[in-house]
Amino acid sequence: MSDTSCLFCRIVDGEIPATIVAETAFAIAFRDIAPKAPVHVLVIPRRHIGSLSEATDAAELGELAMLAADVARQEGIAESGYRVVTNVGEDGGQSVGHLHWHVLGGRALGWPPG
Ligand code: AMP
Repeated sequence: MSDTSCLFCRIVDGEIPATIVAETAFAIAFRDIAPKAPVHVLVIPRRHIGSLSEATDAAELGELAMLAADVARQEGIAESGYRVVTNVGEDGGQSVGHLHWHVLGGRALGWPPG
């Protein structure tokens, strides 16, 4: 179920190019176009889910989390450490309305976020 108006659905469908670094039957991972850290990969479900607030399937969320950890290992940041975060809604800073986990690493990350 893709939403033709959704940027990330269009990446899933191959209509918009992206640098895909990993994929499963359920999810894909691709490099963020405006990286905020030396490693910045987005992990998204292939099917359209607007945000974490709209997720209904714990197994799907588990697959996304496992893929995020796989990406971190693949990108060589599992030992040094990394952050996995999903922004939700306006105050969360979400700018694309398709659930995505940011995988960030390759430098020390500040906390708390601004
Ligand atoms: P968020 O602001 O949490 O919704 O995250 C959306 C992310 O998508 C941002 O980090 C953007 O840089 C990234 N982004 C937007 N358009 C693209 C694109 N065409 N390819 C890859 N990443 C993108």
